[in-house]
Amino acid sequence: MKKHNFSAGPCILPQEVLLKASEAVMDLNGSGLSLIEISHRSKDFVAVMEKARSLALELLGLEDQGYQALFLQGGASLEFLMVAYNLMESKAGYLNTGTWSDKAIKEAKLFGEVVEVGSSKDENFNYIPKGYTIPEGLDYLHLTSNNTIFGTQLKKFPKTEAPLVCDMSSDIFSRQLDFSQFDLIYAGAQKNMGPAGTTLVVVKEAILGKVSRKIPSMLDYQVHIAKDSMFNTPSVFAVYVSMLTLEWLKNLGGISAIEEINEKKAQLLYSEIDLNPVFEGYANKEDRSHMNATFNLADEGLKETFDHMLKEAGINGLNGHRSVGGYRASMYNALSLESVGVLVDVMSEMERKG
Ligand code: PMP
Repeated sequence: MKKHNFSAGPCILPQEVLLKASEAVMDLNGSGLSLIEISHRSKDFVAVMEKARSLALELLGLEDQGYQALFLQGGASLEFLMVAYNLMESKAGYLNTGTWSDKAIKEAKLFGEVVEVGSSKDENFNYIPKGYTIPEGLDYLHLTSNNTIFGTQLKKFPKTEAPLVCDMSSDIFSRQLDFSQFDLIYAGAQKNMGPAGTTLVVVKEAILGKVSRKIPSMLDYQVHIAKDSMFNTPSVFAVYVSMLTLEWLKNLGGISAIEEINEKKAQLLYSEIDLNPVFEGYANKEDRSHMNATFNLADEGLKETFDHMLKEAGINGLNGHRSVGGYRASMYNALSLESVGVLVDVMSEMERKG
């Protein structure tokens, strides 16, 4: 039986993408060769990389505006330091909204002064700080649009003179935003885009080349741009599956179409959390993430019963992160409304049982 997969990442991908990916592993485009046994310089793979890069820009509405899309390696975690390496001359601002922002801050401190413009650490990151002031003279301001572990999401983005950098690992391609307000966006593929192994970086070329330090080639965005994201052997499988997922999203109607479905899923689950006395939401209501919903049992003694019922219903990946506890339902793009319905049914069944 196919499971209802609420895993936080790596996570659910569209069924048709998995099918096409498995076909390409056996035989790419009827070539008689596998996707993973051909040269990355071959015509077939160069076309894959080009398509993945252009689809990313197209879906974000960032074509012909001076942006470049790159598929790099090292995860979003390597971007924590690449961003600082490439952009920080002396001082950068960071909004600290969770574990991942915290880790990005730690790396940036190796390169210069970090100003924490706001933080929600005091409440174990269950809200998004607001009303903070952004000092002048920052080399960039770094935000995390969706906090995967705590289940909070930025609904509004600050206006600033400094280049805006955003870690969108867990909500890229899930909702419509004016993406042109960002100068650099990065996201590990393994949520809304594909399997683990590649990181999408979308960067406005004009912000690069301004720091005085020397940058090692592999960590230099300009080097990767000059080589069309093929400076070294890319992770061919992860890029291919990302391309298929982006194609799937485009055929579905793009970000606006998936946003509508994502809103329905979030509304269905959060209204159950709010109405059902067995459960308590973790994140501040106004800051709730549409991707990762965090909640707890009001009575921990019911854990065994609930866990058993989840298992019986074929629900996978609902355990909360160890730093929050409780439960986390990740509702990425490929998760169906029907799967959320199955979860909500189990939750209401818990209430009936008392
Ligand atoms: N940022 C966010 C928001 C994340 O959710 C994650 C991973 N869950 C990371 C960064 C780290 O990504 P990676 O494991 O690809 O380095």
